[in-house]
Amino acid sequence: MTTTPPFGTALIGQTEKTLNAILDRQLAGTGITEPQWVTLTLAAAGGGSVDRAELIRRVSAATKAGEASVAERVAELTAAGLLRDGGDGSIQVSEAGQARWTRIRTALGPITQGLWGDLPAEDLAVAGRVLSTVLERADAVLAAPAPGPRPDVAGLAASIRGRTLLPGDEGFEEATSGFLMTVEHHPAVVVVAADADDVVAAVRFAAQTGRPVAVQSTGHGKSVPADGAVFIATRELRELSVDPRARTARIGAGLRWDEVIVAAAEHGLAPLCGSAAHVGVMGYLTGGGLPLTGRTYGFAADHVRSLDVVTADGLLRSVSPGREPDLFWAVRGGKSNFGVVVAAEIELLPLRTVYGGELSYPGEDPRHAAHVLGSYLAWAKEQPEEMSSSVTLLRFPDAPQLPEEYRGRSLVQVRVVHTGSGEQGARLVEPLRALGPEKDTCGVLPYAEVTEIYQDPKGPVTAHLRSALLRELDDEAVAELVSLIDPSAPGGPFPGVELRHLGGALDRAPGRPHAVSTQGAAFHLWLRMPAPAGRADTARRTADQVLERLRPWDTGAMLPGFLFDPDSAPERVRLAYTEANYRRLAALKATYDPDQIFRVNHNIPPVTGDAAS
Ligand SMILES: Cc1cc2nc3c(=O)[nH]c(=O)nc-3n(C[C@H](O)[C@H](O)[C@H](O)COP(=O)(O)OP(=O)(O)OC[C@H]3O[C@@H](n4cnc5c(N)ncnc54)[C@H](O)[C@@H]3O)c2cc1C
Repeated sequence: MTTTPPFGTALIGQTEKTLNAILDRQLAGTGITEPQWVTLTLAAAGGGSVDRAELIRRVSAATKAGEASVAERVAELTAAGLLRDGGDGSIQVSEAGQARWTRIRTALGPITQGLWGDLPAEDLAVAGRVLSTVLERADAVLAAPAPGPRPDVAGLAASIRGRTLLPGDEGFEEATSGFLMTVEHHPAVVVVAADADDVVAAVRFAAQTGRPVAVQSTGHGKSVPADGAVFIATRELRELSVDPRARTARIGAGLRWDEVIVAAAEHGLAPLCGSAAHVGVMGYLTGGGLPLTGRTYGFAADHVRSLDVVTADGLLRSVSPGREPDLFWAVRGGKSNFGVVVAAEIELLPLRTVYGGELSYPGEDPRHAAHVLGSYLAWAKEQPEEMSSSVTLLRFPDAPQLPEEYRGRSLVQVRVVHTGSGEQGARLVEPLRALGPEKDTCGVLPYAEVTEIYQDPKGPVTAHLRSALLRELDDEAVAELVSLIDPSAPGGPFPGVELRHLGGALDRAPGRPHAVSTQGAAFHLWLRMPAPAGRADTARRTADQVLERLRPWDTGAMLPGFLFDPDSAPERVRLAYTEANYRRLAALKATYDPDQIFRVNHNIPPVTGDAAS
């Protein structure tokens, strides 16, 4: 069954919801109404005899149910004779429990039959995923390392203005979740920081207790599980002020770009945001920040004036070109390897409007798609720095859940953002219009609406994200890319590959040097494969195949801001920096974080002495 569900995660979510409802109904016949209780029983059955407290902790961690309610359910199962108290803190599965487990397993067969029988063909793939979700949850419980003893956070809790949350506490789950659902965090403690002092206290607590520090704002870049870590949630660091005369903004680490865009727009000013309004400011800036207007203004990191960073020694440092320039350089590109940024001061641009929008072309006929893509590439090469653009190729499934206009379609979508006058923008876009788009939204729009050009998803998504930096693309590259969306080619629907045009100011040495660089690439490639439970391997394999096919044009480099969970190995992280920058980062890591307290990230291990040169 090769049908891939549609892209819109909302649609996928909706279908899964329906299927989960069917699953729940079927499970009701087994006396267990929620998948997580199936997990509990599976865990108990699989474990034979287990430590009661440990079982409760593991099930709580895996299902996100509070420990108290898991304990209650364990008591119920014991009272029902399905579990047997061993009397020494252990718990065993009774014969009745084993029988229940056998019944559940038997019940899963008819459920599969039921789902397959009840559903239209295009939902079968989703049905399979729902079942594997249940089984994966069970596996996760059995495989999860036993959480260590709960840390004693009483002293920390008493010393901060914010909150500490332990597993099972209300708010713990919400604080550790976020946009990307692919990665789950199971930290030892969450510190919801209310101010910079809280961050200092959390980092010191981590150092004293020998735990790593993880930091998260929105979860758009969730990559490395923060298991056992002191997890600093920055979302309540809400400082935001705009100085219209100086054209600067001071921004707390909990802000998202849409909030800064709105505040700046009140003064006719603009921050250098990327395609998604809900991305967090600090994750983006510490990754360099590839803005929608990048060819005009360069990386967003070029426009950072100063940063307040809490380093591994528990000190709050204000860094800028004049104060600790090495650290200032490293944090812009080195992400959270050097500390937790609590606030940033950035430059704003006097940009009230841009000329921009989307031009969408039919892509079913490979010859036409190749003509459009080839013409776009030739066009992009000729563009002045005021014009930033991207092209996305996608092939939708013929699924009834999709809006009519997308069903079974292949599309080539060009998006443009021009920072000069509207007239000039319209003139530059003329050759793209001459290619006959079936949709054209280009026009003058307020900068405050610039992210609407891309319409990135706002809700949580489960996706396998990959990126690469590509050289100039020739006719063979065009043929490879177009074959991804050719309806007659094997491989089925394709969720889309985006190529963002680089060059212009992105290739100039920044006024305030940082660790980020395009490494001379012509395009940034971004692949977003939906990867709901049960389909992660397929998504990874498809992404591998696409990248393999594009290898002749792959520079082998990446941008630090587009490293995701498949890129957490040190050799992948290395690709995001030039050789010289990586060596300098590794040496600075040895200065600022020799004990690797900041290792729950795309880690740059410290290197000292000769090895660093
Ligand atoms: C839909 C979407 C669209 C995107 N578009 C663009 C784009 O146009 N241009 C672009 O450049 N990038 C883009 N990105 C990538 C994005 O910039 C990174 O994923 C970024 O890390 C997200 O930051 P966050 O704070 O929102 O995420 P989080 O998951 O909260 O943080 C991600 C990582 O950033 C670091 N970090 C976060 N906060 C801090 C802090 N206070 N101090 C130190 N380190 C911190 C940590 O390493 C953390 O693990 C996009 C990502 C998504 C999912």
